Amino acid sequence: MTELNILEKFVQENSILPSQCAYHTRRDALNKAGKKAGKMRILVLKADNIARVEYICPECSHHGYHESQWQRPFSFKCNKCNSTIKVPKMKEQFKREMKAVNKAGK
Ligand SMILES: [Zn+2]
Repeated sequence: MTELNILEKFVQENSILPSQCAYHTRRDALNKAGKKAGKMRILVLKADNIARVEYICPECSHHGYHESQWQRPFSFKCNKCNSTIKVPKMKEQFKREMKAVNKAGK
C-alpha cells in the first residue's frame, strides 16, 4: 500500500505544531460501493484556512495531493479519474462503522 508521505514531509519541514492546526485527520476513503478502498489525510492550518489533502483515490488508487479553501461539507476531485471524494464527518463515519461492527457481531 502506498504511504501518505507528502503531508508528513510538509509537517516536518515547516515544524507544524498541533496548536497551529484548525483540523488534522486521517480517514479511510470510501469508494462508490461504500468500501474502504483509499485513504486521506487532511491538514488545515489556522493561519490560512487552506485544506491540504493527501489521498489515495478509492476509485483508481491514484496517490494525489489537493489544496483548496477549507469548508464544511468538504469534498474534492481526484486529479486522475475525476471522481468526487467526500470527506465524511467523523460522527457519521463512526456511526456507520459501529453499525457494521454490530452486524458482524450477530
Ligand atoms: Zn482517482
